[in-house]
Amino acid sequence: MKYVDEFRDGALAAKLAAAIAREADTGRDYAFMEFCGGHTHAISRYGVTDLLPANVRMIHGPGCPVCVLPIGRIDMAIRLALSRAEVTICTYGDCLRVPASGGLSLLKAKARGADIRMVYSAADALALAQKMPERDVVFFAIGFETTTPPTALVLRQAQALGLANFSVLCNHVLTPSAILTILESPEVRELGTVPLDGFIGPAHVSTIIGSRPYAFFAEEYRKPVVIAGFEPLDVMQAIRMLIRQVNEGRAEVENEFTRVVTEEGNLKAQALVSEVFELRRRFEWRGLREVPYSALRIRAPFRKWDAEAKFGLEFVAVPDNRACECGAILRGVKTPIDCKLFGTACTPENPMGSCMVSSEGACAAHYNYGRFRDIPVVAGTAS
Ligand code: SF4
Repeated sequence: MKYVDEFRDGALAAKLAAAIAREADTGRDYAFMEFCGGHTHAISRYGVTDLLPANVRMIHGPGCPVCVLPIGRIDMAIRLALSRAEVTICTYGDCLRVPASGGLSLLKAKARGADIRMVYSAADALALAQKMPERDVVFFAIGFETTTPPTALVLRQAQALGLANFSVLCNHVLTPSAILTILESPEVRELGTVPLDGFIGPAHVSTIIGSRPYAFFAEEYRKPVVIAGFEPLDVMQAIRMLIRQVNEGRAEVENEFTRVVTEEGNLKAQALVSEVFELRRRFEWRGLREVPYSALRIRAPFRKWDAEAKFGLEFVAVPDNRACECGAILRGVKTPIDCKLFGTACTPENPMGSCMVSSEGACAAHYNYGRFRDIPVVAGTAS
């Protein structure tokens, strides 16, 4: 298949659904976690779960970069923007709306007078710093391995240019550490409340890191991983490949997304990232708590462009809103409709938690593509 339409072909999807139904053993259940928010989005958008037999269940994982960012990291940016008049914070649009402490978000802080701007890329933030030498421009960087190389590149450019009014508040996180944390979580290991038979491996992330880093999960934890593209037929084919592995008692890394992902990944991007970043000992994730060696910080030669060092910023952990189930959803323990606020107090227009903010978040994907209809609606009659 060469064109995107072919990966969305309804007739092919029906054939694939029939093959999945044939191959799924009716005597057992299958539970697969799609790690990546892009897959969550595709599954909701194209109604993939409706095409699966009842004994094949998809579990949303912590693969949405906006969703896994803890409140305390957003608070750091808000505190900086509100306390230093010379600072301009730049970040991606979704980050602006994530609820933070004290009823604030970056967007609400902007309404209070902070200079906070939306950018489409790290390069936009760097360009803004060049355009406004009188301002101190801070790029609030988030994301998994996919968005890390562009951040590394701007840090190297800032160093080469000697651009003193630019810095990065680094929140980049690592996919394999999050998968490991899920596999080591009590819900998976001890309680069995999250039965996991395998993973759909992320698409974009794997273009950078390749398929090799997942071999550990297949070998050590006996969990099959199938890396898949973002189109509905990609996801369905990956589910079929996972079912086959489970049926045959195999636990291997397979690559459905061969048109883009290789075993070794993008070596140039990996070299750039390791030149600029090093591992953080600890980093807090929303829903997963502190995960050792799960995030990146800026290396010493680039310290002048590290906003945490430049402005003496400290992370303060903040508990999530107790009514919001984002944490449990990100661990695969609950689904969006298990949250009392879903579709009532919490909607994409008025998000109460991070999973409703980004279109890749489980709650937003579920809401935007009509999965909220799973909720029984009781219609009253006018008297
Ligand atoms: S519906 Fe809203 S409040 Fe509930 S888990 Fe999702 S984001 Fe959090």
